[in-house]
Amino acid sequence: MKTPFLMTAGPTRVRENVRLARAKECSNPDLDLNFYDFYRNLCIKIGKIIETKQDVRILSGEGILGLEAACASFTEQGDRVLVVDNGIFGEGFGDFVKMYGGKPVYFKGDREHGINISDLENFLIKDNEFKYATIVHCDTPSGVLNPLREICKILKKYGIATVVDAVSSIGGEEVKVDEWEIDVCLGASQKVLSAPPGLTFLSISDTAWKIMENRESPIAGFYCNLLIWKDYYEKKWFPYTMPISDIEGLNTAVDNYFSENTIKRHQIIASSFRKSIVEAGLELYTKDSYSNTVSVIKIPDGIDEKKLRKNLLEKHNLMISGAFGYLEGKVIRIGHMGEGAREYSGFYVLKSLEKELMDQGFKPKKSLTENFINILK
Ligand SMILES: *Cc1c(COP(=O)(O)O)cnc(C)c1O
Repeated sequence: MKTPFLMTAGPTRVRENVRLARAKECSNPDLDLNFYDFYRNLCIKIGKIIETKQDVRILSGEGILGLEAACASFTEQGDRVLVVDNGIFGEGFGDFVKMYGGKPVYFKGDREHGINISDLENFLIKDNEFKYATIVHCDTPSGVLNPLREICKILKKYGIATVVDAVSSIGGEEVKVDEWEIDVCLGASQKVLSAPPGLTFLSISDTAWKIMENRESPIAGFYCNLLIWKDYYEKKWFPYTMPISDIEGLNTAVDNYFSENTIKRHQIIASSFRKSIVEAGLELYTKDSYSNTVSVIKIPDGIDEKKLRKNLLEKHNLMISGAFGYLEGKVIRIGHMGEGAREYSGFYVLKSLEKELMDQGFKPKKSLTENFINILK
């Protein structure tokens, strides 16, 4: 199997040192006490990325596990939950709430813009009896980055606990869990941190622990029960055997993160990328609130999206993301995310994209690649 050059909106390319870390000899993570310290230290380092001193846990399962676990652990029969929705992941949170007996109430935002704070404020003035709210920081299918700081601030004003999906923003955008008072903040290994898929990590605030401890009904299920993780370190007990190789890989990926100014790198690559896209005459999907981790580009008239991605893969060995749901066939998504947020990655994807668009008859107003290089200079 030939591995394509990944510029998808996650999973992202995995560096050699991360792959090698996963090849280390394995201990028994249940019995080896050193592993408990290793795991705990990694949790603390992840906490530094998302600026929290609260508890962090790494669970064995892809990002979706974290989303479901948060809803499973918080929701009781009949609980009203505010679902802040201006995208596919935003809306999807409501399904998890329903699965665990909750009643999602949707605050619908315009999908081409970040959540409008005064609209949310007006909504909350009329209705604010919610146990918790779900928010997506970067809704990856549309690339919209929501104003998380402001959203959390207003939710906290009404005493509403916050569950935040920051899976595709953590590491590439600022996330300040303690300052913004996020109760559960969710991330995953395969996005900006550029480790392979398989792990989800999350912060859990004191309020979040209390919500779980004060439930009237027990949490349904085991794998999605966050409460069983509370005293793993003191008890030297993991709910299930930890995937030690995945965690070794994530540890190296996190060290890579701290070896440079990763957020700054994402800012520079993303802004140069967007500028060259727009100045070439292409259009970005959202009107504002761009995430520095992904660019979502509208397919120009006369361009066949399927053929475009097929040619990128077959002729350039380059894999980018298409879209699903309401955006299917209408946009392409390029993840300048993690290892994708490098000058050479940006150059290669723009060069290949330009060639394939021109072959299908698109005439760029400015060369995508030349412009990208000039902006970076
Ligand atoms: C990637 C991602 C997840 C994890 O889900 P998968 O689609 O299974 O990778 C969750 N939330 C957001 C916003 C994501 O970008």
